[in-house]
Amino acid sequence: PYEGPTATDILKKRAEFLSPSMFYFYRKPLNIVDGKMQYLFDEHGRRYLDAFAGIATVCCGHCHPEVNEAIIEQTKRLQHSTIVYLNHTIADFAEALASRLPGDLKVVFFTNSGTEANELAMMIARLYTGCHDIISLRNAYHGNAAGTMGATAQFNWKFNVIQSGVHHALNPDPYRGVFGSDGEKYARDVQEIIDFGTSGQVAGFISEAIQGVGGIVELAPGYLPAVYKSIKKAGGLFIADEVQSGFARTGSHFWGFEGHDVVPDIVTMAKGIGNGIPLGAVVTTPEIAQVLTRRNYFNTFGGNPVCTAAGLAVLRVLEKEKLQDNAFVVGSYLKDRLKALQEKHEIIGDVRGRGLMLGVELVTDRRQKTPAKAEILHVMDSMKEMGVLVGKGGFYGNVFRITPPLCFTKEDSDFFVDVLDISLSKL
Ligand code: PMP
Repeated sequence: PYEGPTATDILKKRAEFLSPSMFYFYRKPLNIVDGKMQYLFDEHGRRYLDAFAGIATVCCGHCHPEVNEAIIEQTKRLQHSTIVYLNHTIADFAEALASRLPGDLKVVFFTNSGTEANELAMMIARLYTGCHDIISLRNAYHGNAAGTMGATAQFNWKFNVIQSGVHHALNPDPYRGVFGSDGEKYARDVQEIIDFGTSGQVAGFISEAIQGVGGIVELAPGYLPAVYKSIKKAGGLFIADEVQSGFARTGSHFWGFEGHDVVPDIVTMAKGIGNGIPLGAVVTTPEIAQVLTRRNYFNTFGGNPVCTAAGLAVLRVLEKEKLQDNAFVVGSYLKDRLKALQEKHEIIGDVRGRGLMLGVELVTDRRQKTPAKAEILHVMDSMKEMGVLVGKGGFYGNVFRITPPLCFTKEDSDFFVDVLDISLSKL
C-alpha cells in the first residue's frame, strides 16, 4: 500500500512552491500513485478506468511491461545527451519511425516535447521557403513556447503571447462552423488570407488532423486537400501536427492525416510516441532537412538513449498487440454506444471523432448549441466517483475528450457509457 504524501499534503506544497498557472481536474483533485494498462490507482488504492491517458499520452497502456523493460535496461546501460558521440538507439528508432511514414518523409529530428517539435517545424518551413507567414487554424493547439503559442488560438492561451507572422484561418468545424461540413468553403478562407494578408508567398500551414485540446474537432471533409493546393501554390510547406492523432490512435490509420488523403511536407509528433516518456520528433524529406545544415542546430536531450529505447518498444508493442486494429474496433463500438446515448440525453449535442479519439459535446440547448459548462463539471465529478476518468476541453470547456490507452476494451467502453448514462441521468 501507498504510504507517501496525501492529496492534502501535495496541495499545500503546490500552493507554495509550484507555478500558480498549474491547474487540476475535479473539485477534490486526485492523487494518482500507480498505473497499470488502462487503469490508474489513487492513494487509497482505489482503481479508476482511465479514458484520458494523460491527454492521449499513454498509447500502449500505463507501465506497459515491455516498454518499462526497455527503459530500465537502457537506463542501466547508459543515459546521455545525443550530441558528439554515436549511439545506436537514436539511429534505430529514426529508421523504424521513418518506415512508418509515407513518401519521402525519411529524416527525423528528435525533441523533448510536442512544443519543441512544432517550434522546429515552423522554423524549418521559414528557413526553407524564405518566408515568415504561417497559417494555422482558430481553435488549434500547437504548444506553449513563443512561436507555437502564436500558432495556437485557444481561449485559455490567447493572451500569453504577442503574435507575429501567424494568421488564424476559419476553423472547418462541422458542428459549430459557419459552413457546416463543406470543407472547400472553409478552404477559401486560407486562399483569401494568402491573397489579402501576405505577399502571396507563405512559409506554411500547420494543422492537427483532429483538434485535441480544441475539443476533438474533426476537420470538415475536403478541407485539407483544398488547403494543400493553395499552400503549394503559395510556395509553402504543409505541417501535420500528429502529437495527439498519431501512433494508431485514430484506428483507421496510423497517422491522422492519412484519413485526409494528403502527404505533408513535415510531420510533428510527441505524446504517444514514448508511451508517457518525454519525447517528440519532426520528420521531413531529405531535401527540406538540408536547411538545418546552414547553421548549427542541436538538441541536448532530444532522442536520448532512454527515450528512444522506449520509442522503439512502443512501435513493437503497437504492432505485436495490434493496437491500431483495437483502436478501430473498440473506438467504433464506443462511438456507436455514445451515439445511442445521444438519443436518450438531450444534453448531448454532438458525438464525434475517430478510433480512440472521441468527443462528446454537452449543450443546454441543441438548437442554440449553448455550452453546458457547469453541467459538464458535475458529470465529470460524478463519473470520477464511480471510477471513471475522462478529459475535458474545447473552446467553451464543454466537451468530453475520450482518449484512453489503446488497450481499452469493449467491456471498458460499456462501463464508460453506463457510468456516463447514470451521471447524466442524475443531472
Ligand atoms: N500539439 C498538439 C496537437 C497538442 O495537443 C500538444 C499538447 N497538448 C502539443 C502540440 C504540445 O505538446 P507538449 O505539451 O508536449 O509541448
